[in-house]
Amino acid sequence: MRRGKTFVVSGPSGVGKSTVLQALLDRRKDIYFSVSATTRQPRAGEIDGVHYHFLDVDTFQQWIADDQFLEYAEYVGNFYGTPKRFVDAAMDEGRDVILDIEVQGAIQVAAKRPGTVRIFIAPPSWAELERRLIGRKTDSIEKIQKRLVRAKVEFQTAHTYEYFVINDTVEEAVRELEAIMTAEHCKPQERMEIISGK
Ligand code: 5GP
Repeated sequence: MRRGKTFVVSGPSGVGKSTVLQALLDRRKDIYFSVSATTRQPRAGEIDGVHYHFLDVDTFQQWIADDQFLEYAEYVGNFYGTPKRFVDAAMDEGRDVILDIEVQGAIQVAAKRPGTVRIFIAPPSWAELERRLIGRKTDSIEKIQKRLVRAKVEFQTAHTYEYFVINDTVEEAVRELEAIMTAEHCKPQERMEIISGK
């Protein structure tokens, strides 16, 4: 049976990762998108269990103590983590899994799970990123500044990723993501059963 692979998608806050990933998931129902846990407050329209599992800090700490996370990290004053059990269940079913996580989490997943494919999504320019962050009206100017500073730090790690996608248009970014996922399954090491005749 075809084995599921883990794809980690990172990129600056406001780059449009959620929009691109949602468009990909609309086309590809077979892909499992990992819903993270976070201690940050829900934004308008965000639903508990759909966009995130919204937890208080004590509960988040308890999940850490119970070894429920594949990875977790702090990001601009809040905790974020990937619950392990759903990811494992999806991969056991042969489904590809996408994690939308920042760079510290990406490093942890790649170390724990060899074969993880990391994709960095970048904005067309810094000016465009700033425009998008201000335009979505979800954060205070202070938070936006912090997210921009963090974005520039994260960008310095982009060269360590396996792939780099520029989110100029959503359609093009989705096309590239899908091409990457398809190509990864065409690698010989993914098809050793056929190659070795077993
Ligand atoms: P936001 O608050 O904008 O939803 O997310 C902030 C950052 O946290 C984004 O870069 C997002 O990719 C990252 N993030 C979301 N979920 C997780 C997670 O489970 N683990 C880690 N390490 N980062 C996450």
